[in-house]
Amino acid sequence: MTVLVTGGAGYIGSHTTLLLLEAGYDVIVFDNFSNASPESIKRVEALTGRKVTLIEGDIRSREDLEKVFLNHAIDAVIHFAGLKAVGESVEQPLRYYENNVCGTVQLCEVMAEYGCRQIVFSSSATVYGDPHTTPIKEDFPLSATNPYGRSKLFIEEILRDLYVSDSAWKVVLLRYFNPVGAHESGRIGEDPSGIPNNLLPFIAQTAVGKREKLSVFGNDYDTHDGTGVRDYIHVMDLSEGHLKALEKLPQIEGVLTVNLGTGQGYSVLDMVKAFEKASGQKVPYEFAPRRSGDIAKCYADPTFAKEVLGWEAKRGIDEMCEDTWRWQSSNPNGYQL
Ligand code: NAD
Ligand code: UDP
Repeated sequence: MTVLVTGGAGYIGSHTTLLLLEAGYDVIVFDNFSNASPESIKRVEALTGRKVTLIEGDIRSREDLEKVFLNHAIDAVIHFAGLKAVGESVEQPLRYYENNVCGTVQLCEVMAEYGCRQIVFSSSATVYGDPHTTPIKEDFPLSATNPYGRSKLFIEEILRDLYVSDSAWKVVLLRYFNPVGAHESGRIGEDPSGIPNNLLPFIAQTAVGKREKLSVFGNDYDTHDGTGVRDYIHVMDLSEGHLKALEKLPQIEGVLTVNLGTGQGYSVLDMVKAFEKASGQKVPYEFAPRRSGDIAKCYADPTFAKEVLGWEAKRGIDEMCEDTWRWQSSNPNGYQL
């Protein structure tokens, strides 16, 4: 079976590609390298001893996509390609809508043209906006607080409309909580460009000495220690969820929407402590004002994922921090050699 992985050279895409290869799938990675390096795929090939068909292309280009479908019989698509920085999306909304939404429309058009109607899409817990309560279930009300989140909501709706128009489409919308960690080898991991926006990469870069100290955004939230609570999920657990979704695709009628989270919430200070323990390094921090748009608590009810996909997260907070540290300390400059 051949799977097209858009954005496959990126953080979650590279880990999922590794598992797909290990499970025996043939994998085509399609990426424009706007936020990734081909080095990630070289390392995936070295780790698995298998070849990836790596294609440089853009999901907004019909021509690029048609070339792929013309030359390969693709059974299903896992669609990671997209821009993901919330703050940047507020400053450059059109770029986000163009890349994420228009790109997905192009991809679906070409898929339909070539008779491939099975897709797993990377959605996000951000589509729940500020949830009225936690844990979050899949049927909670949806809202967006920024253009990035809105692009995810639009794409979810577009994929639902596609199924209504043609019941041959089979769609899984995976709503990720907070992906962290790295492959246990320390050879692949998250390689953010510039100053990291996300908590764990920032902590890791502080522990390795690249950043002076962490700013903890807000210590007056209604949480156990006043700092924001999130559902951190190990990227290998998340990637395993994609394989389960792929196995499920042929049996799906319509659109399946699934939370991928652990069900466990940790605060910023919990993460700092766990990282210090895993790395043996101090992570200096100071309290700073709340970050605009942040919510107090966000964690999943993962029951449905277990019921419908037979999937649940297995790795805990210590493993998340240990694996992040192994990656960060052996690749302080990411994939830059
Ligand atoms: P990433 O930036 O590492 O990976 C995305 C990949 O897509 C990159 O390799 C990038 O080069 C590629 N890409 C972007 N635009 C493209 C285009 N027009 N054509 C071809 N390739 C393109 O990000 P990630 O963390 O691996 O996220 C993967 C997906 O999961 C994204 O859609 C993201 O929105 C979603 N997601 C991520 C998180 C998270 O916290 N990491 C949480 C929820 C959802
Ligand atoms: N956070 C922080 N300092 C940072 C980055 C993040 O205190 O430098 C906090 C943030 O306020 C939130 C949590 O860490 O409570 C997770 O933030 P992240 O950006 O990783 O994920 P998201 O906000 O998208 O859930």
